[in-house]
Amino acid sequence: MADCIFCKIVAGEVPCTKVLEDPVCLVFMDISPISPGHTLLIPKKHYESMMEMPAGDAAHMGGHLPALAAAVKAAAGAEALNVLQNNGRAAGQAVAHLHIHLIPRWAGDGLGFRWPAKAADPAALARQAEAIRQRLGA
Ligand code: 5GP
Ligand code: ZN
Repeated sequence: MADCIFCKIVAGEVPCTKVLEDPVCLVFMDISPISPGHTLLIPKKHYESMMEMPAGDAAHMGGHLPALAAAVKAAAGAEALNVLQNNGRAAGQAVAHLHIHLIPRWAGDGLGFRWPAKAADPAALARQAEAIRQRLGA
């Protein structure tokens, strides 16, 4: 995809600090880390978001996550780790090429998370679950 920074990294036109690659995906260090060791896992093919990715590629990428998450956390000497994946501008996606963040975390690291949990209306939960099931054809 022309003008996609991550496609340029995959093509070797823009440098990156590579961790590993295989035929389907590439792992490299985030150039502007929000914590030390912040790492990105991307598919080599350009999918704008999780919603466009075939299940086979998603399964392949997901298969890397347990070992990769453990390695990123251990290499950083971190206490914890977030796996984060933003889909769409309103969700904080800046680069329109699917990527999964692995973010080492420490207690008191100041990153926090805005998570304004509220009590839910059980009828609304049931409606939402049904709407999701319908779209899944389940
Ligand atoms: P998003 O906000 O889209 O979920 O995250 C995009 C991430 O890509 C950011 O953490 C940003 O620092 C990282 N990033 C953007 N451009 C580059 C680049 O050219 N090289 C590398 N290694 N990371 C990048
Ligand atoms: Zn791309």
